[in-house]
Amino acid sequence: MEHKPSSLKKASYQDIAELLYGNAKAGVFVTFVAATLLVFGFNTPEIQTEKYTWWGIMSLLMLTRATDALYWHKNENNQQDDGRRAIIRFVTGTLLTAAMWCLYCIYFSQYASIIELACMIIVVSAFAGGAATVLGAHKFTAISYALLLLAPFSIVLMLSSEQYKLILGLLGIIFSFVMVTTAKKSADFTSNAIRLKNENAELVNKMEQKVARRTEKIYQLSNLDPLTGLYNRSAFMHNLEAQLALSIENNKPIALLFVDLDGFKRINDTLGHETGDKVLKKTAARLENLRDEHHLLCRWGGDEFLIAYLGVDQDSAVSYAATVIEEISKDYYFDGNRLSVDATVGIALYPKHASKANELIQLADTAMYYQKKSQPNSVGVFNTEIGLRISRENQLKMGLAEAIEKQQFRMVYQPIVQSTSHKIIAFEALLRWDFNGENVPPDEFITIAEQYGLISDIGTWVLQQSCLAAAGWLALSKEQQPSVSVNVSVLQLHDANFINIVKSALETAQLAAEKLTIEITESIFSHDKEVILNCIKTLQVLGVQVSIDDFGTEYSSLSVIQDLAANTIKIDRSFVNMLDSGGMAIIEAVKQMAVKLDYAVIAEGVETQEQVEQLSALGIEMLQGYYFSKPLEHSHIADYMEYNS
Ligand code: C2E
Ligand code: MG
Ligand code: MG
Repeated sequence: MEHKPSSLKKASYQDIAELLYGNAKAGVFVTFVAATLLVFGFNTPEIQTEKYTWWGIMSLLMLTRATDALYWHKNENNQQDDGRRAIIRFVTGTLLTAAMWCLYCIYFSQYASIIELACMIIVVSAFAGGAATVLGAHKFTAISYALLLLAPFSIVLMLSSEQYKLILGLLGIIFSFVMVTTAKKSADFTSNAIRLKNENAELVNKMEQKVARRTEKIYQLSNLDPLTGLYNRSAFMHNLEAQLALSIENNKPIALLFVDLDGFKRINDTLGHETGDKVLKKTAARLENLRDEHHLLCRWGGDEFLIAYLGVDQDSAVSYAATVIEEISKDYYFDGNRLSVDATVGIALYPKHASKANELIQLADTAMYYQKKSQPNSVGVFNTEIGLRISRENQLKMGLAEAIEKQQFRMVYQPIVQSTSHKIIAFEALLRWDFNGENVPPDEFITIAEQYGLISDIGTWVLQQSCLAAAGWLALSKEQQPSVSVNVSVLQLHDANFINIVKSALETAQLAAEKLTIEITESIFSHDKEVILNCIKTLQVLGVQVSIDDFGTEYSSLSVIQDLAANTIKIDRSFVNMLDSGGMAIIEAVKQMAVKLDYAVIAEGVETQEQVEQLSALGIEMLQGYYFSKPLEHSHIADYMEYNS
């Protein structure tokens, strides 16, 4: 098995090879010149053929080494191996060269004249001297080269009988000793320098890796959602904006998918947040599986996910969204339990619907919202109708925020009468909004006020006005003492301060609590019952009456009605409208229940004499509707009461 060097060693090998080869071309050239001069400069007829042979071999060797040096320089920057092979090639070439010189000196010196001998000594000494530094990167070679060049030659000279050769040999031995020491020192110095350099490089490298790891961690913290590992909001926005910029350049569309889980709240509420988290994680994993390089995916928050589908048209986006829903709706299995959630997807398209990231997201969100309302667990694409609804909603929302201040609200009052005697029992207070000349119906603006958190302030104003009005009409006559019936949104009941608001409205108007009725719609049954029941009980303890409005239109729970101990139930006008086609039976049933549970019944929306007669015959105690009166302006109440006294 080949030994794998550490990164530090690998770098050292590279450096050594680089240093060695750095001087190779010059070394080869000088060697070739010296060899040629010596061989052709001195003619010794008896061994000239051997000299030529030697020169031929030496030239071949130099050619090989020169080729090797060229090859190395060419591949220097894309070295596949770690430099060790290059070193081996270089060292072999160098030692062969030294061996050739060694051979030359030992063999040819016997025939050399004193001048040729001197030249030989000068040449090999110079090479040995040069080697000490030039080959310093490789200690073994530096020393061996100097030794091979000088030592055998010097020994041969010393063995000679001639005295000057003996002296030259002795000098050569001393010189080779000096050269070996120099070569060793130089090699140690060089290898030390290489080691230090690479250790530093490795240190820097390690630091860089550490920084990179930290950067990655910071990236994760700031860009990824910790629960699902998907992009978080800011990372998604950042990427989407970049993609939009590209799309503008390339003229390519983008579809933005707003994915919202259906029924996730139920899982969280009934099975706990831990299970909820597991579902979110699994959902994220499924979305991730469906993703490729054309999708940007993020967890937008809660149970919402966004997918930007790059370069795609509406049809493909819709079919992808259908796949997303299908995938999410597959059963989940946790600890042996089977769970399922659905999803609704809203789509907005760039450039068709919007060109800014936040606008696209908002429109896709809106498309999802409307889709969920009308047909959950399906795909809805943003369209102009939704667009008009939004701009209307925005207009109304902004208008509502300053409607009280601008005195655009007023209350009207519709009488509720005793069915047989037509005596006025109460007035229902109904809010009117004159929005720059337009009479916006309360059904429309109350929903918006509820959605945008404006209902509390408006509701408070309504209560105050209604209590004041009631105190006013109660002072008009001793016999007629109608109460006031005020519509209250369930959201107001969630306000911890609501009881105080009621108390203060009663106090300011000097109105007895018994003269105030709160009308609550059936939708309370889909809210947090506990909070609402407590609030209503407190009101009843104060003496305030409670009426269930629009009864029959939504899912009703008799047990809750019983818990509420509601004083009155108002049968929705849709049943009064269809007295002849089934409405009668329902009203009859409600009346029977009312007798048992001890509450009074009001029928709303009474418009005809016939309805009055039929309802009275059924024993419905109170009636309200256009037959008796449309909602009245406050200023008309006195006349109305007098006329009906
Ligand atoms: P609601 O509480 O069921 O009010 C009765 C609605 O039926 C009133 O509509 C009234 O004008 C209408 N109405 C009465 N008699 C007849 C009739 O014989 N025929 C027909 N076709 N309609 C009749 P309005 O004033 O448009 O109010 C609509 C709804 O808006 C109310 O329904 C109530 O839920 C809500 N609302 C009105 N004012 C307020 C308020 O001050 N606060 C809150 N939270 N909701 C309010
Ligand atoms: Mg009402
Ligand atoms: Mg009603």
